Amino acid sequence: MMLLKSIPKVDKFITNKAFEGLSKTLITKITKEILEKLRADILNNKIDKVDEDLLILEILNSYTNLTSSSLKPLINATGIIVHTNLGRSLLDEKIFKNAIRIATSYNNLEYDLKKGKRGERYEHITKSLKALTSCEDALVVNNNASAVFLILNTFCKNKEVVVSRGELVEIGGSFRVPEVMSQSGAILKEIGTTNKTHLRDYENAIDENSSMLMKVHKSNYSIEGFSSEVSFEEISEMAKKHNLIDYFDMGSGHIFDLPYNLSKDEPSILELMKSNPSLISFSGDKLLGSVQAGIILGKKELIEKLKKNQLLRMLRVDKITLALLEESLNLYLKNELDTIPTLKMLNTKIEVLETRANILKEKIEDFMNCEVLKTSTMVGGGTTPNKKIPSIALSLEFKDLKANKIEEILRKNLIISRIENDKVLLDFRTIKEDEIIQIEEILKKEFKNV
Ligand SMILES: *Cc1c(COP(=O)(O)O)cnc(C)c1O
Repeated sequence: MMLLKSIPKVDKFITNKAFEGLSKTLITKITKEILEKLRADILNNKIDKVDEDLLILEILNSYTNLTSSSLKPLINATGIIVHTNLGRSLLDEKIFKNAIRIATSYNNLEYDLKKGKRGERYEHITKSLKALTSCEDALVVNNNASAVFLILNTFCKNKEVVVSRGELVEIGGSFRVPEVMSQSGAILKEIGTTNKTHLRDYENAIDENSSMLMKVHKSNYSIEGFSSEVSFEEISEMAKKHNLIDYFDMGSGHIFDLPYNLSKDEPSILELMKSNPSLISFSGDKLLGSVQAGIILGKKELIEKLKKNQLLRMLRVDKITLALLEESLNLYLKNELDTIPTLKMLNTKIEVLETRANILKEKIEDFMNCEVLKTSTMVGGGTTPNKKIPSIALSLEFKDLKANKIEEILRKNLIISRIENDKVLLDFRTIKEDEIIQIEEILKKEFKNV
């Protein structure tokens, strides 16, 4: 066991020139761990000599790993616009300008500048939401899941909430409507069947213990064939007749009508507001195209009650979220929708995508087999389930490399592609214009002259 004696001493080893200028605390911690592993390896006869240079390299690698960002920007070439795994909605750089000033200065987050007294955090955003949607009042929480929970907990604790069986959905990230409901204290009253629910089912379910008629957006599935559901407008009317709250968990939530006929079965927020709902809620970072947030619109007296729930303190949003959301809403108010990347991507004409695909094709076709294809993609994020939107893709083939190998090479370079019919596709619906040149450079590096 002579080898054990050649394990360096931590105190001395960390004074090595290679670690100059680095955090002593972190270097000490890493060194201890690596030397302990070395000791174990020696005892298990896994190694037969101690190489100090190698140890230094290992420590430096670990240091770099720990101190660099794990979150990385990448190129979404999947075509899915609101990609749940890739950060959902993008923000335009322009909307950060004001948020940076808010985050780096003191501000009037909870200060009424006119009165010189304590003000209210939610006021800032209410103004824009009222102007945009004509709602009576509004509230913003951490995300739409929080909005659902807060609403159920405030109005339906130990009371019945009527929901169609076709809408008891599970959404990615383990958000299941029946479970959220029971955790919030509300009692679920299921009505109808999986495929069909009628207005009379709602009416028949109402009794003295009812508090709310709730509609939930199906989000990530759709029912085809023999099916029917009741529109929120009808539910809303029925609720009012019986003095109950009507609430629509819209999921995604888009302000204006969507292109490609997507709005046919997906009424916009402006459309829904016409039926004068008690409450609706939706996400800030799905089709709205802003930051993670849960936005609640509705009757003033109900919003007031939500504000009095202690839970709100736990679900409240930060000033940076509010600043960014306000900027996004201002873009809607000024009709500058091209500065909302989610909408810009959705609205880009197919001819424009085709031109971009051809630009890349011309740069790489001398060393890769590629073809511009008409394809289709989806908005994603549980926004418009099973609805296809047209898109353009560039297929990539290289010598006899299998599609999954090419996909892997791209992924190592932070380009996320998709495979269809054994071919790797770069879908231009989600590739930003300035990313085309980056893709070109990566393809050249990986495939040219190899
Ligand atoms: C996405 C979604 C939620 C959750 O919204 P988050 O903003 O992700 O918290 C809740 N309900 C429905 C119907 C959804 O589609």
